[in-house]
Amino acid sequence: MFTERVYNFSAGPSMLPEQVLKRAASELLNFGGSGMSVMEMSHRSKAYQEIFDETKALLKKVLSVPDTHEVLFMQGGATGQFAAVAMNLIGRTGKADYAVTGNFSKLAAKEAEKYGQVHLSCDTSATGHTTIPAQRELSLSTDASYFHYCANNTIYGTEWSYIPDTPCPLVADMSSNILSRPVDVSKYGLIYAGVQKNMAPAGMAAVIIDRSLAGQELPCTPTILNYKTTIDKDSMYNTPPTYNIYMLGLTLKWVEEMGGVSGMEELRELRAGMLYDFLDNSSLFRGRAEKSARSKMNVTFTTGDPDLDAKFIKEAAGEGLLCLAGHRIAGGMRASIYNAMPVEGVKKLTDLMGKFELANKI
Ligand SMILES: *Cc1c(COP(=O)(O)O)cnc(C)c1O
Repeated sequence: MFTERVYNFSAGPSMLPEQVLKRAASELLNFGGSGMSVMEMSHRSKAYQEIFDETKALLKKVLSVPDTHEVLFMQGGATGQFAAVAMNLIGRTGKADYAVTGNFSKLAAKEAEKYGQVHLSCDTSATGHTTIPAQRELSLSTDASYFHYCANNTIYGTEWSYIPDTPCPLVADMSSNILSRPVDVSKYGLIYAGVQKNMAPAGMAAVIIDRSLAGQELPCTPTILNYKTTIDKDSMYNTPPTYNIYMLGLTLKWVEEMGGVSGMEELRELRAGMLYDFLDNSSLFRGRAEKSARSKMNVTFTTGDPDLDAKFIKEAAGEGLLCLAGHRIAGGMRASIYNAMPVEGVKKLTDLMGKFELANKI
């Protein structure tokens, strides 16, 4: 039982900024004098359309989305996009390149295999996904419809530090690092993100697509996953996840108040720096990922002893530092330090790690 809010290090759904939750709470029963909750509003009402338009405009502004690109809100999370990307884009040449650097990129590649020929540009499974390939190590096809990669590997704690240079449109799964730093959207054909890591409550994917890529979908593509239809209907072919979009709008306002994506980047450098500095100087804990591939959103680490890891996770939970267990396929610990994680939460974590190290050193 906690009487106060905890520091939740969950990989997702994860922490939302406290200001965002408070604002949502204050507007829960009566939004802006409408006499109803946003949850209860018709998606065709004027009041809701304003929320929708504002959220979309804010995402464009915060990420500096160029006019060539459209912002879409779709259901089915990031996993829905594994299918949507392939069904909508692979038809041009019937082939696509996939970089496999972790679990989600592997699932994305497997999904795409249903709809066309998939070429693996890299596969880091041999290193236990502790690495990210260099540009020169990528095997690139000359006739791929697109190149897909996962910009931040949530489970293994690695992150691409560069934008791959490819002869075809670039598609990125940015579920776990979107809005955490500036990104040159014009370099991408398509960016998608499940919103539950850095943006909003679970239940939606944000998609940013170069309009010229839409309209080449396979005939079997369900209308609900069709990018062209979604663009034409402004994400309202059917009832959109209205409350998620409203919550995303509140988060985006918070990001703006905090200095935009540059402000988020400063915070992310600070949080990750604190944790990795501690790990690099620790005689008990060590980081899992290779230094050059380290993620600044999901920090994976271990003592090397599963029992000691379990003891640490339990002690941390007692101190209000929750969900530090690594993903079941990676083991050890994982601290997910997304945009909404306060720096004080990371300070509390490194303080506890220091104490634990003193008490448990052999
Ligand atoms: C969480 C996550 C997913 C899966 O997201 P869902 O919305 O649950 O489908 C996919 N890719 C990455 C990088 C993730 O972090």
